[in-house]
Amino acid sequence: MKCTVCRGPAVIKTRHHNGKFCRPHFFEHIERQVRRVIERYEMLEPGERVLLGVSGGKDSMAAWDLLTRLGYDVRAVHIDAEFGPVSRRAVAHLRDFAAQRALPLRIYRYPELLGADFDAARRQSRKPVCSLCGTLKRYYLNQLALRLGCDVVATGHNLDDETAFLLGNVLHWQLGFLGRQGPVLPAEEGMVRKVKPLVRLTDDDTRRYVAARGIAVVSEPCPHARGATSRAYKRHLSRLEKEYPGSRSDFYFRFIEHVRAHLPDDPASAEVGVRHCRVCGYKTLREDRCYVCALRESVAAAEAAG
Ligand SMILES: [Zn+2]
Ligand SMILES: [Zn+2]
Repeated sequence: MKCTVCRGPAVIKTRHHNGKFCRPHFFEHIERQVRRVIERYEMLEPGERVLLGVSGGKDSMAAWDLLTRLGYDVRAVHIDAEFGPVSRRAVAHLRDFAAQRALPLRIYRYPELLGADFDAARRQSRKPVCSLCGTLKRYYLNQLALRLGCDVVATGHNLDDETAFLLGNVLHWQLGFLGRQGPVLPAEEGMVRKVKPLVRLTDDDTRRYVAARGIAVVSEPCPHARGATSRAYKRHLSRLEKEYPGSRSDFYFRFIEHVRAHLPDDPASAEVGVRHCRVCGYKTLREDRCYVCALRESVAAAEAAG
């Protein structure tokens, strides 16, 4: 097997772009994918402060490494839900990586954000664990970006994540979600810009990338394992990709470039109108306070009642 760039011995074969690479050319290839998608969708400007949400998994670690290499001013933030040994291992990997490279890293736990730990929040919430965890992370990454003076929030979502999400939304014609899906969500009142710079990379790409760079990551799934449906969508899409190479990337990028703009407005938000939380300013469809502010109040009330 020869490197498609230099004809030297190749050590990595990527299914997605059908390339074979020696180690240096694999790194170059991955960096180019990220640089190109950042430029194409105008995700980041030089000099902007980027808050990157890091979990200790392969995707966010790859994003941390790559954005730093590309010269961006990255402030890594980890929200530790304290889910036992896996969470402790994630924190250890993150601290090691930050220390080795002298990179800024802030770690927050729910007691300081929400006034109580995740379990207390979970007892007051009707959402499934994964959905609650995701809602809280999205909320706090946005609020922390505002508090820390960051211009944009970046996350490690990759092509597999995004196409699984897209497929789910297409199968059920979730117009509200479809209209808001994309590699960039522009800033709005109370909300900073959100970007996904790894959206051209696949699960395989980021797994191989962190391995080849020797970056330690947490590879076991969260103990509250994410919805079986999204894993099933990923599995079906990889099968399609194997049979029809390039279909995953066409499915996603053609949707973004040619379809999304023609979608009608989200029927739910058109009906009630978009509001802003009276407590924190976060965008919400709810009457008075956003979901997290209401949750924080019921957690406090439950704690006070003992
Ligand atoms: Zn090469
Ligand atoms: Zn709020």
